[in-house]
Amino acid sequence: MGDLRNCPECGKVFVKINKNLCLDCIEKEEAEFEEVRKYLKDNPKAPVEEIVEITGVQEKKVLRWMREGRVDISFFDGSKGLTCKSCGTVIKTGNFCAKCAKDLSAQMKGAAGQRTIRQEEPEKEKKRGMYFANRMRDN
Ligand SMILES: [Zn+2]
Ligand SMILES: [Zn+2]
Repeated sequence: MGDLRNCPECGKVFVKINKNLCLDCIEKEEAEFEEVRKYLKDNPKAPVEEIVEITGVQEKKVLRWMREGRVDISFFDGSKGLTCKSCGTVIKTGNFCAKCAKDLSAQMKGAAGQRTIRQEEPEKEKKRGMYFANRMRDN
């Protein structure tokens, strides 16, 4: 049988199938997503604050959809949004900015075998790689 658990949104007990939400909340979230998507279609440059205010959808959900690449939201200076998990730069989707993603993949390659990239302070580099790996897993 399925795995019984409490829905993190409404607290109801439900059988977990593949989403971590009960059916009611999944449906509700899909409806909310549709609202946001529609609003963005008419107002493609709307900042996150405005979307949250107009649609009434929780900011954390809007941000999650952005991270998942489901919605595309423009930013103005000072507006809220996703930030790079490494340097804090505002980004549009994913977990890292383009620069950090590049650094990160270079480090991953480095850690995977060739030690030719940076000879100095190998210990420090290794720790930094682990830090990134943990951060990636968190998400
Ligand atoms: Zn629920
Ligand atoms: Zn960054």
